[in-house]
Amino acid sequence: EAKQRGRNLYQFYTQDLNSRTYRHLVMENQLVKALAKDEFDLHYQPQISLRNGQVEALEALVRWHHPEKGLQNPAHFIPLAEDTGIIEGLGQWVLRRVCQDILRLRQAGIELPRMAINLSARQFRQVDLVERYTHILSEYGISPSHIELELTESTIMQDIKVAVDIFEQLHQLGFRLAVDDFGTGYSSLNNLKHFPIHSLKIDRSFVSDTPHDRDDTAIVTAIVAMAKSLGLEVVAEGVENEDQLNFLKKLDCELIQGYYYSKPLPFDEVCQYLMAPDR
Ligand code: C2E
Ligand code: MG
Ligand code: MG
Ligand code: MG
Repeated sequence: EAKQRGRNLYQFYTQDLNSRTYRHLVMENQLVKALAKDEFDLHYQPQISLRNGQVEALEALVRWHHPEKGLQNPAHFIPLAEDTGIIEGLGQWVLRRVCQDILRLRQAGIELPRMAINLSARQFRQVDLVERYTHILSEYGISPSHIELELTESTIMQDIKVAVDIFEQLHQLGFRLAVDDFGTGYSSLNNLKHFPIHSLKIDRSFVSDTPHDRDDTAIVTAIVAMAKSLGLEVVAEGVENEDQLNFLKKLDCELIQGYYYSKPLPFDEVCQYLMAPDR
């Protein structure tokens, strides 16, 4: 009887595994085709300067219009895109779309200081990253100084020597570099100081319980102070309410990104946001 149960269990697991592998393969196949089928889209979220209330940058956040499941957030497909290498082609698509949108904004009379894009670990270590990105920008006649590249601490810290070298090249070309999800990656300041970084983005998980949570409040206060002393700009991510905003204002944090000002929006809607007189 025990044997029978074991067999049933075994069957249960293999079936489960097979159907999971199958679903995985289906999704992978759909993801490969998604680029050609033009199913990706970018949403943009503004970063607002507390100094003057202006929109300083838009962060491009990729979305996938899945043929059956509808709009998918990156958490649902970036890991697979990363495992399969699809991320490299997707990353180039993102930069192209950002360039096209910069030109569309210009046509509408809107010139923002910069646009921010995210790079995953595999993209960052793509051998021809620097050539490809500068090539795409030159096709559109856009200067790298209008582009901020966001990398997480863990991506940067994977192989510090290599990362410093890539950062130096990108920095020389004029790209702006930001550390994303700062505070979650255990990087020591000692390591960070080797990198030509312009800004730190404080992870949403620290911001969300300020100013009520004592520990998070202390952490955010320390990050802002530290960034200032290193001459870095600070962006607070995930600001959702006025209490958080007032706390960050008191700290003299430069830039705010979060639902309080705007969720990530499709291009047309972010244009309306930028042009609204009562913003
Ligand atoms: P991230 O770069 O840290 O982006 C910020 C995430 O926080 C976005 O989620 C954004 O919608 C969300 N967010 C912003 N403000 C608030 C807020 O006030 N409250 C809450 N609850 N959430 C807020 P999203 O768009 O789902 O993106 C998730 C992650 O996917 C990004 O985190 C980034 O790491 C990655 N990602 C997005 N686009 C790309 C891309 O084009 N390439 C790569 N490699 N990764 C991307
Ligand atoms: Mg980001
Ligand atoms: Mg982040
Ligand atoms: Mg994140």
